[in-house]
Amino acid sequence: MNSFKELELRPQILRGVDEAGFEKPFPIQQLAIGPLLAGRDIIGQAKTGSGKTAAFGLPMLQAIDTARNEVQALVLAPTRELAVQIRDEISRLGAYTGVNVLAIYGGQSINVQLDHLHRGVQVVVGTPGRVIDHMKRGTLDLTKTKYVVLDEADTMLDMGFIEDIEFILDSIPRTRQTSLFSATMPQRIMDIAARHMRNPEKILVSADEPSAETLEQYYAVTGYEDKLQTLVDIIETENPASAIIFTRTKYGAHKLARELQRRYFNAVPLHGDLSQNQRDHSMRLFRDAKADILVATDVASRGLDISQVEAVINYDVPQDPLVYFHRVGRTARAGDKGKAFTLVSGDEQSDFERILALSKATISPLRKQDAEHQFYVPAKTTITAVQDSRYGGGGRGGGYGGGYRGRGGGGGYGNRRGGYRGGRRGGGGRYSSW
Ligand code: AMP
Repeated sequence: MNSFKELELRPQILRGVDEAGFEKPFPIQQLAIGPLLAGRDIIGQAKTGSGKTAAFGLPMLQAIDTARNEVQALVLAPTRELAVQIRDEISRLGAYTGVNVLAIYGGQSINVQLDHLHRGVQVVVGTPGRVIDHMKRGTLDLTKTKYVVLDEADTMLDMGFIEDIEFILDSIPRTRQTSLFSATMPQRIMDIAARHMRNPEKILVSADEPSAETLEQYYAVTGYEDKLQTLVDIIETENPASAIIFTRTKYGAHKLARELQRRYFNAVPLHGDLSQNQRDHSMRLFRDAKADILVATDVASRGLDISQVEAVINYDVPQDPLVYFHRVGRTARAGDKGKAFTLVSGDEQSDFERILALSKATISPLRKQDAEHQFYVPAKTTITAVQDSRYGGGGRGGGYGGGYRGRGGGGGYGNRRGGYRGGRRGGGGRYSSW
């Protein structure tokens, strides 16, 4: 399918698609829109940036009867940010359909939402907690709802929304059509699907990994106590215009953002212990390029459509390899170039080995000493030589022959970029700890 026109969408919807500037359907749209228009339940493995909102949003718009002032479609999303993003996208695509879309989420005055609900909306995009609030108040009637979407289902489960989701689904007529989108597909998701969906079609949009041509991936082996300095060295050497640093815990994100700020980096935190206002503030600074580093947990950042990130740095190695691919997929989007760096300390070695074993693309040692570190990975994995990098080796480190033991090249550092953007950080680029 090469164009949206081949889909049996109403002309008003096609006009919205056209004005949004969409020319060709993205893979998830090519695969999901047909079955959804045909009334099938679907499970789609797709991350933010894949175009999944339009994939479920266009058939949703088609299903709405604008003559009826009832909530006919419900999208559940984990965070307020994502709910707002989805509302905006559906409103934009449905601009000529007359469909009313409302986002409901915690943190916004319930009265504003009540007013809207009162006036009549056909599509509600909401976070599970606030949706339940409205249901219990009797202000949200889902008995006429026929189209339900669970978006970023894995994040919703991680955030502990499982009971809320099941309560909501149990309150909607079984004749509904249900679709579920998730970046990862743990067993818990399949269990929900088994309980609440009807023979769903499974749609897998190629793996989460960006292409090797656009994304360079590196690792640095570091002691736990040297991580911060290693991170600082990477930031100062690479000097990315924008970077997301991932940490495993909320406290880790909080502490690391503070440490970076103390060193005069423009870093802002994003994690679940912040208030909604603080999270909005961080996101605004980062999106407006007033902060160039976002220190985030996976849960807080998942689902956010943040484009143009030059570097992703894994301060902690994720335990689930899929999370690694998801994280690094935040850079090198839509043909842009990007780099990913992973700091591996002793107790993270086995987690990292699982990533190495699964990664189709090369994850290269960043520095000479990283190449000397031995990882145990199945033979199918290929790891190439140390790149001709600024980090030492100065040339080809020997390839990973038997046992994947690198033989780094000669010593000395390659060219170092001098000076820092906007005089933000003082000092010369020294690799003192390398
Ligand atoms: P999503 O994964 O739904 O958050 O979409 C990511 C971005 O891609 C959004 O900014 C969409 O507006 C955009 N997008 C979605 N589908 C298409 C398409 N077929 N052509 C161009 N842009 C698209």
